[in-house]
Amino acid sequence: MPKMPPTFRLTDTMTHKVRELALAEPGHLRFYSCGPTVYSYAHIGNFRTFLTADLVVRTAQALGWRVSYVSNITDVGHLTADDQADAEGEDKMAKALHSKEGEAFVNVWQLAEHYETAFREDWARLNLIEPMVRPRATQHMREQIEMIQGLIERGHAYETPTGVYFSVASFEGYGKLSGNRDQESLQRGVRDVVQDDNKRHPADFALWKKDEKHLMQWYSPWGWGFPGWHLECSAMAMQYLGETIDLHAGGEDLVFPHHECEIAQSEAITGKPFSNHWIHTRFLRVDGEKMSKSKGSFYTVRDLVDERGIDPLALRYALIAVPYGKPLNFTDQGLADGLTNIERFRQARERVEGASPSPTEPFVRIAEEMLAAMCEDLNTSVALAKAIEGAKEILRPASLDEEARRGGAWFLDRVSQLLGIVPELEQAPAEGEPQIEGRAIGDWLAMRADAKQSKNFAESDRIRDLLTAAGYEIKDTPQGVEWRKA
Ligand code: AMP
Ligand code: ZN
Repeated sequence: MPKMPPTFRLTDTMTHKVRELALAEPGHLRFYSCGPTVYSYAHIGNFRTFLTADLVVRTAQALGWRVSYVSNITDVGHLTADDQADAEGEDKMAKALHSKEGEAFVNVWQLAEHYETAFREDWARLNLIEPMVRPRATQHMREQIEMIQGLIERGHAYETPTGVYFSVASFEGYGKLSGNRDQESLQRGVRDVVQDDNKRHPADFALWKKDEKHLMQWYSPWGWGFPGWHLECSAMAMQYLGETIDLHAGGEDLVFPHHECEIAQSEAITGKPFSNHWIHTRFLRVDGEKMSKSKGSFYTVRDLVDERGIDPLALRYALIAVPYGKPLNFTDQGLADGLTNIERFRQARERVEGASPSPTEPFVRIAEEMLAAMCEDLNTSVALAKAIEGAKEILRPASLDEEARRGGAWFLDRVSQLLGIVPELEQAPAEGEPQIEGRAIGDWLAMRADAKQSKNFAESDRIRDLLTAAGYEIKDTPQGVEWRKA
């Protein structure tokens, strides 16, 4: 009898229980994960949260599910005080433009583009799966404005001289995710914040901010301004995934107010549950403390990979070593463990190189245990231990027969798919193609041709000299370039 696949269970923030991830449509996961605000380089804490989403997608795929995975780019409206319900304060994007780093950019759009590009590079280097769509807030203004109109029509929002606010008193379920239901905790959520006297309740949050001077502004039925941050995720999640999604994810600080507000806006419009399951990643700490610029413990992927030369897969390993529901303390030791294990997977790959993958024991059993661990609330520490157990099976025997090599190759593919931590082997140079400074001679010649065509003769000469110095004779002929060993 075929074995039943394990049940995928995750801690649900709403119920505080580890619950089966139930799908509205069997075999198809609709998943939204809040993305970065592109006002600076994302730090490794942000990536811990994005890696949780990545592991959800990988686990779902390993179960054979189709995954519709959406993760947004916040490029407007996230205010410096947005962790309070009634955000006042400055738009993070505008503030960044006026900072020292911001001097490099001509406007806020260019700043957003720069940090978004950098973010995508880091995303790829840490081997995260590309979402189906990566929508930007600034490109979904019409949907956001329409949502506000709908909320006003239904009596859930009202206009004041400064903006449009969501009325929390109009939505019975406000507070059901975070537990902030009573007056006192709602007040606590908004302390230290300048109040708009025209608001009906201090916890009412902005859907639209009127601001004719704001660097990024749009025209709306309420005049020039920009949307509140919480709105974009509701609008984009519903646009790409439908009115009810299966799962919504973010870091622990997003429970309140961001996700609480998303629920209120969305459910007030549709009358249906916005998401059937919510997960939140606990914060990453560095050497036991909050990451801090002044203490020099604030790390971006760039700091570690480009500056310190750390293997991005070792960094990935260190960031997923502890399950998302537990706080993770990032240390040099954690990175060193990552490095040791990535090296182990590399050697295992080498050992089974060329074998055609097929499932054999004991690898099938270990792979099943690895997947079962991920299905149990993304238990990465057990799953990684299983991956290492399999790698040791490949590395331990003095020699491997063909069946073991094939099983090992199959196993490493499973690890690579599920956890994303198996390095690809460097491609051996093709037979007969000499390599100079790590590049095939044909590539050098193509680069030289490009340089010539764009009249960059300094570069084309440099390449010819380099090849000559390496002992090759280059000749331009009417039929093209010829080369031979001098
Ligand atoms: P932001 O770019 O500020 O919108 O944050 C992007 C994501 O990173 C959000 O889901 C945050 O909750 C999450 N996040 C921020 N700081 C940390 C941290 N230190 N550890 C883990 N996740 C974080
Ligand atoms: Zn969001």
